Amino acid sequence: MTLDKILPQIKKRVCLAEKTYFQLGGPARYFLETNNVKELIEAVKTAKHLKIPALVLGGGSNVAVADRGWSGLVVKFHRQKPRAKTCQLVGREFICEASAPLAYLVRQSIRRHLAGLEKLAGIPGCVSGALVGNAGAYGVAISDHLAWVEIFDGQKIRRVDRTACHFGYRDSIFKHRPWVVLRAGFILPKGDQKILLAEARKIIKIRAGKYPVDLKCPGSFFKNIPVQKLTKKVLAQIDQAKIIEGKLPVAFLLESVGAKGERVGDMAVSDFHANFILNLGRGKFSDLKKLVAKLKVKVKKKFGIVLAEEVRYIG
Ligand SMILES: Cc1cc2nc3c(=O)[nH]c(=O)nc-3n(C[C@H](O)[C@H](O)[C@H](O)COP(=O)(O)OP(=O)(O)OC[C@H]3O[C@@H](n4cnc5c(N)ncnc54)[C@H](O)[C@@H]3O)c2cc1C
Repeated sequence: MTLDKILPQIKKRVCLAEKTYFQLGGPARYFLETNNVKELIEAVKTAKHLKIPALVLGGGSNVAVADRGWSGLVVKFHRQKPRAKTCQLVGREFICEASAPLAYLVRQSIRRHLAGLEKLAGIPGCVSGALVGNAGAYGVAISDHLAWVEIFDGQKIRRVDRTACHFGYRDSIFKHRPWVVLRAGFILPKGDQKILLAEARKIIKIRAGKYPVDLKCPGSFFKNIPVQKLTKKVLAQIDQAKIIEGKLPVAFLLESVGAKGERVGDMAVSDFHANFILNLGRGKFSDLKKLVAKLKVKVKKKFGIVLAEEVRYIG
């Protein structure tokens, strides 16, 4: 029996380029798009039973899919039209379904006069992807006010409390376990709704001034570098004013090695942000990998730093 015969809602050979921001790469052998937790778990369990590798995506804003695609099941778990139950205040806990757009969580928190998430305004994707990568901006991360994350661990649904999530800079335990992220609970302090809204709007405006909205791009490609990882020699070469919130922006290193304008096929480093790699049209994953290797060599040669990808490869 094949997966699509057991679960007829599962489609075969679906192009993943159309499902991700980067718009590159091949098809998923099996594909399901759902906002239903039961359906998601049933699909993942059945795939496991048939020894088919399963992968869950949220908004697809932080991934690069291989040209050969994904040989197993991809579930795109997202809810485009959130409902009343998607984000709820239960006692002091603000609970949100992981399939919700992150922008919705931010809006709903502000609606309820809750502070702490407003600086995440404008980050694309879903709550799930933000939890996996501990998304953040302007000195704030999604984990800052998180209490717990509900997951499916392959056997059962259970809660992982904040400390056990092992959040780090663009990192969490969810990057290293085959778990499915389902819901999250936050404990947010009260805030002044007007101030929160103004802050979120200001950030959205700053972002809109930085890059066009319709880019084929997964955001910053490489992780910024925590200062403690830099050698004295490298620090001496760097203008200290470039260090923001204890991290050296990779864009600065990339710019210093002349990355802007580098291109392989239709994959190019943007001319407005050296840490943005764009698909100019018919970009291929193989070209992306060549471009990434070239950039890594240049930075290693000049600064002795090995760049690490923030974007996740699929396939
Ligand atoms: C223009 C632009 C600007 C951006 N700015 C920022 C920024 O300021 N800060 C920042 O941190 N990021 C930024 N990003 C990157 C990206 O938007 C975030 O990392 C976002 O949180 C990813 O969410 P997603 O739902 O799209 O994740 P996806 O790309 O769908 O998935 C990311 C990873 O999470 C896994 N995953 C997703 N859902 C689940 C689940 N339910 N269970 C288990 N694993 C799951 C996937 O398998 C994948 O490995 C930007 C991206 C773009 C395009």
